[in-house]
Amino acid sequence: MLVTEIRAEKYDLPLREPFRIALGSVEKSGNVLVRVSSGELYGIGECAPPRFITGESQRGCLSFIESIKDSLIGTELTPETLDDKLKDFSDMPSARAGLDIALHDLIARKLSTPLYKLLGGYRNRVETDITIGITSPEDVERKVHQALSEGYRIIKLKVEGNIRRDFERVRAVGELGVRIRIDANQGFSPREAVEFIKKVDGFDVELIEQPVHAGDIEGLRYVRDNSEIPVFADESVLGPADALNVIRQNSVDGINIKLMKAGGITGAIRILHVAESAEIPCMIGCMLESRVSLTAGAHFALAFKNVRYVDLDSHNFLKDDPVRGGMEVRRGWIRVPDSPGLGIEGVENCFEF
Ligand SMILES: [Mg+2]
Repeated sequence: MLVTEIRAEKYDLPLREPFRIALGSVEKSGNVLVRVSSGELYGIGECAPPRFITGESQRGCLSFIESIKDSLIGTELTPETLDDKLKDFSDMPSARAGLDIALHDLIARKLSTPLYKLLGGYRNRVETDITIGITSPEDVERKVHQALSEGYRIIKLKVEGNIRRDFERVRAVGELGVRIRIDANQGFSPREAVEFIKKVDGFDVELIEQPVHAGDIEGLRYVRDNSEIPVFADESVLGPADALNVIRQNSVDGINIKLMKAGGITGAIRILHVAESAEIPCMIGCMLESRVSLTAGAHFALAFKNVRYVDLDSHNFLKDDPVRGGMEVRRGWIRVPDSPGLGIEGVENCFEF
């Protein structure tokens, strides 16, 4: 596609309430909306810079796109050539993701096909969990009841790395007979993680994500070797080289892929293929994203068989949903429109939609 214009805008998303995980607490998500045009046709993407994980910021994403766009405008771009041009900026994965998503949207619109059909077209719906941040066991229980009433069947529960308090949180979900995915966001030491996993053994815990520090791949393997519950990596795997590393070291049962860590759909596909070659299943997760990039994640999940776990729910944390069109969630099941590209019609107060 001949790219004729690239624009990036601040895209501030206040949250309904502060969202707390083991790495910190946030009250708003400072994202960036990206538009890549070819003549009259355009595609849109979103950067949701995960400060705690990649160290990126909204301002950093805006200035990166501003600095790079002149070298992209006027050239023929495909996802692969874009990825190649940006390969030296591995420290800006969410900024690259915004451009990569917008380009994918643009190309699929040009070809008049929903993006997931172009990528792989494996299925037409996926079931997502819903996430509960770190809060009191009473509040966890209240939120689980709310989620169940909305039709969700799987809870992703954030824990802080305190065995006693985290056990109470797990119990608040587990006693209701609901399936749980635990996410420790690096909160435990390897030994603490094993002790915690033994304690929650009686509940329906499907997996535990990133129990130990991102750089502690040996610790991750220790937990895996001593756990009845599958151990997934999240922060330990940003790109395909990291995936290869944790797989070689026999440290994981699964990998949580996120477009914002991987530099977009192109990088996510590479991780997926590395994992699939080793028969390691993947999850598609998200940062604090609106339904623009969540929809891109949904297309990725629909396209590929090896995306076996879906955690695309951050729009629930936002005070407002400014996106028209895009993915829909009904009783936990995600579908996308049968229209070209991502299927997004517009975003309130952004560009001139
Ligand atoms: Mg995680």
